[in-house]
Amino acid sequence: MIGEALWEILKEHHGYSDEDLMRRVAKIDLKDGKLDGKVAKTAPVQCPRCSRILNKRHALCIYCGEQIVHPPFAR
Ligand SMILES: [Zn+2]
Repeated sequence: MIGEALWEILKEHHGYSDEDLMRRVAKIDLKDGKLDGKVAKTAPVQCPRCSRILNKRHALCIYCGEQIVHPPFAR
């Protein structure tokens, strides 16, 4: 519901159309080169300090304690 409400606000206040939204959705879908209705999987997370590969759910590196900054839309 929140996504739908935000979209209504954007349409009413900024003049975007449903076609604008669908073009953007297709662009995001195509990030992995396939228009398949699925978002691209993000690459594994690598610690910026010790370079070890980490599970995406960790906020801190389990090996060295470095804070891991995840992209806001990472999956
Ligand atoms: Zn680390």
